[in-house]
Amino acid sequence: MDCYELLGCNENSTHEELKRAYHERLLQFHPDKNNTNVQKFFDIKAAWQVLGNPQTRKRYDAACDQERLEQEANLVYARISSSDLEKSDFENTFFYRCRCGERYLVEPKTLEAKNTRLHVMCDGCTLVIIVET
Ligand SMILES: [Zn+2]
Repeated sequence: MDCYELLGCNENSTHEELKRAYHERLLQFHPDKNNTNVQKFFDIKAAWQVLGNPQTRKRYDAACDQERLEQEANLVYARISSSDLEKSDFENTFFYRCRCGERYLVEPKTLEAKNTRLHVMCDGCTLVIIVET
């Protein structure tokens, strides 16, 4: 359950914004008005129980951050530097091989910006590599 999404807000929303959104949605999905989606009404109430209290909100935010980091870590195949890339003889590109057999292709001009991290998606699967320039 994404508490922020239920209230149509995000992590940067202020307490006042969350409160306003909560009251609007509570009216919108009140069982008297919208009895086809009663579950949503209770979900919205549950989301407010988490986000309406600064302490539980903080805990929720931390848990979400952790989850995002873990998801990202699962998708990252490798963290490499630009010198680990191989030069393709046929195309004017650099590449790195993925375990799926396809390649991560990197245009030379994207390597010109120094001290940045490029996220490159594999051509064949959902993995990414992070290239430090
Ligand atoms: Zn791949």
